[in-house]
Amino acid sequence: MRLAVVAQAPTPAANRQNEAGAAPRVERPQLVSSRRQLVKAGLAAGLCLCCPPPLAALAEESAAAAAPAAAPVVAAPPPPQPWGYSCLTGPESWGGACATVGFQSPIALNFDASHPPPGDGALQPLLPKFPRYIKQGVTVKNTGHGTMMVAMPEGVDYELAGQRHRLLQFHFHTPSEHTVDGRWLAMEAHLVHKNLETGNLAVLGVFIEAGEGWTPNPVIAEALRSGPMASGGETLLQRPISLRTLLPNARAADGSRPYVNYSGSLTTPPCSTGVDWYVFLDPLQVDAEQIVEFMYYAGSGSRPGINNRPPQPLAGRSIRYFAA
Ligand SMILES: [Zn+2]
Repeated sequence: MRLAVVAQAPTPAANRQNEAGAAPRVERPQLVSSRRQLVKAGLAAGLCLCCPPPLAALAEESAAAAAPAAAPVVAAPPPPQPWGYSCLTGPESWGGACATVGFQSPIALNFDASHPPPGDGALQPLLPKFPRYIKQGVTVKNTGHGTMMVAMPEGVDYELAGQRHRLLQFHFHTPSEHTVDGRWLAMEAHLVHKNLETGNLAVLGVFIEAGEGWTPNPVIAEALRSGPMASGGETLLQRPISLRTLLPNARAADGSRPYVNYSGSLTTPPCSTGVDWYVFLDPLQVDAEQIVEFMYYAGSGSRPGINNRPPQPLAGRSIRYFAA
């Protein structure tokens, strides 16, 4: 069974409501009785961005409102705001650059690789020359924000889009952060690079779709096997990985794949801008069970969770398309 897409992205009307700050209506996900049903039901996209605050938080708020005014004191710097993907800590509440209208990521890609726009002749094939295996010095850390970050040892350098890049780390989101033709896919991998010539960050995005009985992906399997469950926990990756298996199949004999390129930001706080994005449009295909496992990792092991930021306004940016 093919489970390529887990949910429909919000309508433009819903987007407008969100941007204006009004609370969108969110359909409650139906209860499911098994982990496999979870994927079938598409709960990965059961976004809860605007749940009412829990009673405890309401009680704290009313107690604070009822308390007599205290004598003025010198204000201490505010503690760093916790951020996450829950009702109270989710993307709608992120501050700083995340809250400003700029060139933010992710964005909605309003086409797919089967119905592409005209290609940009100035773009060149994107052929990441990963080492065959990375055997030593790879650490895997639970970020405390719903994913594990797999950090590379020094020196995973290669030419990408005509410039020298260094791979720093990769991590995953569920469901996908970019949407394709109005839909989310099951997961998205982000391979974060530093452009050694410009100093910019560059992220390679890989969509992941799931099907029952499809081959498990060895890199995702190793990340799940090694990823510490405790927030902030860090360990060495246990077995060698081949990052080549984290790329979708090539379309052409020269190894090229269709992709889009645009300028955006980190998709998590501090949402820094000036990030070059390269997103492959053909998805990687993996066993649905891996998606479920990752959702439980995102939910700290006890329940399924999500860790995706919704698409941000395009704000006049152009999206360049490379046709393989
Ligand atoms: Zn990411």
